[in-house]
Amino acid sequence: MKGQEVGVSNVNVRIENRKKLIKLLYLHDGMTKQEIARNLCLSLPTVNGLVQELEEENIVYFQKGVRSSGGRIPTLVWFNKDVFAVVGVEITETGTRIALMNMACNIIEECYMKIPFSVESDYWKEMNFEIQQLLSSNQIPESKLLGIGISMPGPVDREKKRVESVRDFHIEIRDFNYEYLEQIFDCPFVFCNDANAAGFAEVWLKTDIYDAVYLSVSKGVGGALIRSNSIVLGENCNAGEIGHMVIQVNGKPCQCGRAGCFETYCSTRVLLKAAATKNLKVFFEKKKTDDGLQKVWEEYLDYLALGISNLSLILDMPIILGGEIAPYIEEDFERLTGKISKLIPFERSSPVCILSKFRANGYVVGSALLIITEYLGIA
Ligand SMILES: [Zn+2]
Repeated sequence: MKGQEVGVSNVNVRIENRKKLIKLLYLHDGMTKQEIARNLCLSLPTVNGLVQELEEENIVYFQKGVRSSGGRIPTLVWFNKDVFAVVGVEITETGTRIALMNMACNIIEECYMKIPFSVESDYWKEMNFEIQQLLSSNQIPESKLLGIGISMPGPVDREKKRVESVRDFHIEIRDFNYEYLEQIFDCPFVFCNDANAAGFAEVWLKTDIYDAVYLSVSKGVGGALIRSNSIVLGENCNAGEIGHMVIQVNGKPCQCGRAGCFETYCSTRVLLKAAATKNLKVFFEKKKTDDGLQKVWEEYLDYLALGISNLSLILDMPIILGGEIAPYIEEDFERLTGKISKLIPFERSSPVCILSKFRANGYVVGSALLIITEYLGIA
């Protein structure tokens, strides 16, 4: 018996080994049983038993693979990414995006809802209708829909099934209890704070990061704290509300009622307002030839660097920068990290800030991933 198994019941060990095996195959392309055994420090008979069980459940399949070393063609075990479909929903102030995905979170097709967000049943019935349309146009039977992950910009208490509040919406939302949606959706669904969902995806789908801060910079500035691959919710489901960290005493007024919040300096609204546009792309186009906008951008980067360096000093974890700003900041990213380094009086052995992998897809991917990991038992 291996050391790690001592003192733990065989059933628990089997469940844990199964979880590790599913996650390994989910994150890697096809592997031989021998590679799996080596990677997980398990015996070959144990791997055989688990793989057979997963094949019977249609979660894995076998396929011959090519290895560059030549010789016999090995049989590889693959995670079945088409065993189910899953839906990720992103609800924002400006609209609702619905993305149909496979189990690898690759978007098959997406659409935008035509009616504005509401807590009333008509809105959710319309969402259900749009989902059915996406399934039927892709010839996916309803029974293959694993579930719906829904992200919103506000604190979500998943145990009590309620969204406590939503910031910055066209309507006031307080204590929205979403339990009644069981009567509308025929499959499991989960609600999640948008930044938490995106942060979870960024960390969970990486094999080299387990703890991180996800910083979402869009019209709102939010964040998520991920510890050991799990979302840290906090006592009031409010952990990671980084946007309301005050970075300027007596600063600009914030929609939260106070002044000088990080969000008032680093919301993308600052840039949109300066260029008198609703489209961020326009700001960056105009900036190329406009000294005033270049100054706005420089000041914006200074405040962003200040907020990020504060987070790094408190938590000493990688800070993943995502949200609407991510695709536009790429060419100035080195300058941003330079500004951050100047504000941190300690040596760092790894990058303080990295750019998000999913960019604008973080919310839909993250909310769908919550459904997938729950189903696979590997959350
Ligand atoms: Zn505030």
